[in-house]
Amino acid sequence: MAQAPVAGGPAENPYETALAQLDAAAERLHLSDGMREVLRRPRRELSVSLPVKMDDGSLRVFTGFRVHHNDARGPVKGGLRYSPYVDIDEVRALAMWMTWKSAIAGLPYGGAKGGIIVEPRDLSIGELERLTRRFASEIGILIGPERDVPAPDLGTDEQVMAWIMDTYSVQHGHSAPAVVTGKPLSIGGSAGRRDATGRGVLFVTQEACARLGRPLEGASVAIQGFGKVGSVAAKLLDDAGAKVVALSDSRGGIYNPDGLGDIDAILAHKHESGLLPEDHPGAHITNEELLELPVDILIPAALEGQICGDNVGRVQAKLIVEAANGPMTQDADLALAERGVPVVPDILANSGGVIVSYFEWVQDIQSFFWEERTVNSRLERIIKRSFQEVADVQDRDGTSMRDAAYTLAVARVVEAIEARGIFP
Ligand code: NAD
Repeated sequence: MAQAPVAGGPAENPYETALAQLDAAAERLHLSDGMREVLRRPRRELSVSLPVKMDDGSLRVFTGFRVHHNDARGPVKGGLRYSPYVDIDEVRALAMWMTWKSAIAGLPYGGAKGGIIVEPRDLSIGELERLTRRFASEIGILIGPERDVPAPDLGTDEQVMAWIMDTYSVQHGHSAPAVVTGKPLSIGGSAGRRDATGRGVLFVTQEACARLGRPLEGASVAIQGFGKVGSVAAKLLDDAGAKVVALSDSRGGIYNPDGLGDIDAILAHKHESGLLPEDHPGAHITNEELLELPVDILIPAALEGQICGDNVGRVQAKLIVEAANGPMTQDADLALAERGVPVVPDILANSGGVIVSYFEWVQDIQSFFWEERTVNSRLERIIKRSFQEVADVQDRDGTSMRDAAYTLAVARVVEAIEARGIFP
């Protein structure tokens, strides 16, 4: 059953944020007006209406999107989001961020994203399956192992990917595991994919601490969002010796300045009941309060626009690692940069997911599967190399880490566009 829940939509239009970030990078790279225009516009967008027979016999029509931002570096890659807050601008922003993320990691991919406007918790498993299969069929004109490879995101999971893989395979008359990543292991998923984004967050946090000369061991950590990414990051950071003091989901959070203790027990409770433990020693806090805690490391791992102009003045964290996509608005980003608070940007910090999705795709195409330790060590090598390459640009240019990441990513995409030339 897909996880989901989303309370409170993004605080500003994420596409405007994405465009402003691109414009700033284009300025630093002295790009021509024409090249800026190429990069600002998605290559193609598809909007689909999805009629679904509901369990009570009624018919409902949902809306879905798939956007390809840029495919100069290879087939497009990007997640599918099921949330009531999905809209075309959010999908456009997320597609553009995927282009940059893949470029930073050096993957042979462009960027895409998709989504359906739906609260998946409100649907039965049968309704969710029919909705997903209809969506897979409608976007079938875009997806394919050599063209566009979706993956899970907010509100979608391995089961949703399995339905998409099956629908595509049935319609093409052969099994096509490489059409999606983040699948169950039984149908060509990769060992280590489930934990990959959270594991990548651990690796970049280790690198950031080393670069700042601060120990990760004993560092206090607050994590907003306890889903596929936040829960794994919490567990792995705890295992690495950090002190996880606060966690939250859409309903609110728990906080104990002495540490929350056994993360496995909290995870088990969440899996069983869908909730964080109510009787956990420590305080119950809101998501807003979690962002303002006096911690060494803050990891937003839920939605866009959570740290914004309204609350940035009260954010006390000494390091922010963006596990979510776009968790910070531009004004908040500027305010933190002025205060000298280091931020590891999303397009680097959460790239573990797409890196291991790439491994999954490669394994599916070769029909040759790797052991989990091979997956994890290759992930570590690639994401730490990416971190170092971004850090080198930061040192060279004297910018924030986000600006350095954009400079690197946009330059790589432009290089590919120029190498291929503009058709015809
Ligand atoms: P998920 O659906 O598994 O989990 C989302 C979590 O956020 C849940 O715990 C939910 O309760 C919580 N949440 C929802 N609304 C909230 C709110 N208003 N305040 C606090 N918490 C709230 O999703 P996920 O896959 O873990 O994705 C989380 C973020 O990470 C998203 O921004 C996503 O785009 C990004 N991301 C995910 C992946 C991946 O591999 N899944 C990869 C890269 C980036």
